Amino acid sequence: MHPSEDRVAALSGRRRIYDRETVIRIPPQRGGWLEVICGPMFSGKSEEMIRRLRRAEIAGQRVVIFKPRIDDRYDATDVVSHAGASMRAAAVESVPELTARAAAYDVVGIDEVQFFDESIVAAALDLADRGLRVIISGLDQDFRRLPFGVMPELLAHAEFVDKLQAVCHRCGGTATTTQRLVDGRPAPYSGDTVVVGAAEQYEARCRDCHEAGADAVALVA
Ligand SMILES: [Zn+2]
Repeated sequence: MHPSEDRVAALSGRRRIYDRETVIRIPPQRGGWLEVICGPMFSGKSEEMIRRLRRAEIAGQRVVIFKPRIDDRYDATDVVSHAGASMRAAAVESVPELTARAAAYDVVGIDEVQFFDESIVAAALDLADRGLRVIISGLDQDFRRLPFGVMPELLAHAEFVDKLQAVCHRCGGTATTTQRLVDGRPAPYSGDTVVVGAAEQYEARCRDCHEAGADAVALVA
């Protein structure tokens, strides 16, 4: 609210409903919690997770990033953001392996969470219940713009949620979706949600510029 609007509201006796200071995020004083960083590709999710973990590390906390072994885009043992920031990460085969290895840390980052199976939800909650700070990063929507895997449940359970945006590859607007392209054209809507190692391209797109595959109408109807 603009200061002059404040004054008008005060003079006219109207109660102020909004306040610039309304949104304050204070982590719990005791115990663990769950925070989620989500958004489309190229929105800086990994960068943001690395930033948070580095701050914790500087404070002397024991931090670790886990990522699913499926993701080997860059380096098997680093989480690397598209902007180039990197931090050592442990690639894990399974959720039980993650749970067992997480016990030695204060802060646990989980990158690319959409590639874990649904048992990651209970595992993340259990770690938070045991007093760990759990920072999860992943795509909130698949290339069809549908909720991606376990992400909706994690968002519901989280104490803190940040939904990041990218820049639309086509119009320069605010991108909230991930466009999958095959040979430069929108990928078929009926394609697999997770395709590893395929010759495909991805772009961040805004709602207006996102294109469903040519078969989407027939499938959704
Ligand atoms: Zn756009």
